[in-house]
Amino acid sequence: MYIIFLGAPGAGKGTQAANVARELNLAHVATGDLFRQAMEAETELGTQVGAHVARGTLVPDELTIRVVLERLAAPDCARGVILDGFPRTQAQAKALDRALAEQFKSIDRVIYIKITEAELLRRLSQRWVCRNCQAPYNIVNSPSESEGKCDKCGGELYQRPDDTPQAVKKRLEVYFSETAPLIDYYTAAGKLVEIDGEGGIDKVSRRIMAVIREESRARRA
Ligand code: AMP
Repeated sequence: MYIIFLGAPGAGKGTQAANVARELNLAHVATGDLFRQAMEAETELGTQVGAHVARGTLVPDELTIRVVLERLAAPDCARGVILDGFPRTQAQAKALDRALAEQFKSIDRVIYIKITEAELLRRLSQRWVCRNCQAPYNIVNSPSESEGKCDKCGGELYQRPDDTPQAVKKRLEVYFSETAPLIDYYTAAGKLVEIDGEGGIDKVSRRIMAVIREESRARRA
């Protein structure tokens, strides 16, 4: 199964994609996490992407596509993948379609999480993430149990530098100009399902799992 999570920064893609991946025992491939881990580890990829991530602009397509296709070839992706934060441009979406078609595979569903811009801004300003495993927390609605530490791995929590008001503004501009057109792309392909992203994490999870269970039933039928 190949499922894409689409939505603006702050829509809750990361949290929801991780839940679904755990529930279905599929690999969770999040390009933002891959890039931040490379930056933390100061690898060559980290150096190449660092300035883009800090500014809130997109990493060039060619590099992003190469990183994702390499990741998709790993053994843990063989059963299927939850893609989170990729594709973000038409070029990436087309490259993904081509790469899957070469293996006689295709995207099953695109889960588009929709929330208002006011809610996006509120969530991004309250988001802290684990420096080690990238797990996201909301310091108001879902803080970690011990302050400043990740519940999952004990790593240090920090506020992403691209969650500053200036970088957030840029990321939203980029989202609306580059990524939002993918809503039409996947609607035309008959793959897109819109999910109301407002409400608590569990409520949104239930909406998403209902769609995915329906998809699994249809595949088995
Ligand atoms: P995210 O954690 O998904 O919000 O991504 C953080 C940053 O990583 C983005 O603002 C971009 O700079 C970069 N990035 C993540 N995914 C992509 C992608 N598919 N294409 C280009 N840049 C990306």
